[in-house]
Amino acid sequence: MEPLYTAEQLAEVKAYHQPRYVASFVDFVLTPLVLALMVRFATRPLWRLSERVGGAVDRLGLKLPTRLWGGTGWAAALAFATLFFGAYGLLDVPLEIGFGYFHEHAYGLSRTSPAVFIVDFLKGKLLFAGAVGALVFGLFGLARRTRHWWWLLGVTASVLMLLSTAIDPYRSRVYVEQTPLTEGSLRERITSLMAKADIDFRDVLVEHTASRSVRLQAYFAGSGPTRTIVLNDALLAALTEDEVLASVAHEAGHVNEPRWPGRLASSGVLVAFLFAVERLFRRAVARGWFGITERADVRTLPVIVLTFTLGLMLGNPVSGAVSREREYAADRYGVALTQDVGAFRAMLVKAARTNKMDPDPPRWAVLRGMSHPPIGERIAALEFLKP
Ligand SMILES: [Zn+2]
Repeated sequence: MEPLYTAEQLAEVKAYHQPRYVASFVDFVLTPLVLALMVRFATRPLWRLSERVGGAVDRLGLKLPTRLWGGTGWAAALAFATLFFGAYGLLDVPLEIGFGYFHEHAYGLSRTSPAVFIVDFLKGKLLFAGAVGALVFGLFGLARRTRHWWWLLGVTASVLMLLSTAIDPYRSRVYVEQTPLTEGSLRERITSLMAKADIDFRDVLVEHTASRSVRLQAYFAGSGPTRTIVLNDALLAALTEDEVLASVAHEAGHVNEPRWPGRLASSGVLVAFLFAVERLFRRAVARGWFGITERADVRTLPVIVLTFTLGLMLGNPVSGAVSREREYAADRYGVALTQDVGAFRAMLVKAARTNKMDPDPPRWAVLRGMSHPPIGERIAALEFLKP
């Protein structure tokens, strides 16, 4: 069988990935260090600044947030969270722009204009700031009122995570335009494939990403009656109908994955983490960290973020391993559904070449938590499947 890449292509793919691995390794080492330094040296100065900002906002006399918070001080808390995440995020901005824009353009993977990149970038920051603001106000506001907050919030968040899959189909529309796939043979074949797989869906949409990126993409969003099959325009342009069906069949393989073990595990971990945060609140008062005298003081936020980050670093290898196993299972399912291993292989090869996937990334990068198996191994695994 023809190799995935020529020597020249492989050299280019490696050159694209090499600096990304270096950055990822440096990030892995430096992130906890930077956070620890911020906990130690940035908490007090950022708090002093936040108190001044908060004092100015308090003079506006906004009643609703003061009532919800149970007193003044909410503005200083929000200012502190914004300043902390702002300062922390600022360190990443050069890398985000360097890799997100310049590196992608240098290797012909991105077509985003500077203006669109900046708008997307700011949109992302704004959404993040809104989410952080809501989270900080909700978490600290609730914790100030009741010592039961940690399980109340843990259970509420778990339920919200369940519901959030329902709004999935709408989330990507913040960034890109989607239109229904036109009537015709491809739509008919997708419909009958889904009927064969016994999977409900609402619509097949085309995501218009060609003006931004050359990457091929297919995914299912939502679940049950809101499930949407999303294919991007680059994928439709690059793949034959059989290959498009192969990619849809792979995604269909993810639909019937057992969700509850993962959901229960993440809810359990979340509640345990929030309980640890409650312990941290009490310890901060007992030891008078940063001059804290009351439970649920926002000055504990940097310590919480450090703890959370360390937890993620430990958890990612596990969730990555589970996810990679599921990708293999979805490949096997997809081939069994279409009975066309040739088209499936051709789809993976085209996707790898277009997206410049590394056929054999360094082992540590995989083990750190890659969600997909190395493309070389995925293609090799197909050899063992009987069509
Ligand atoms: Zn997949």
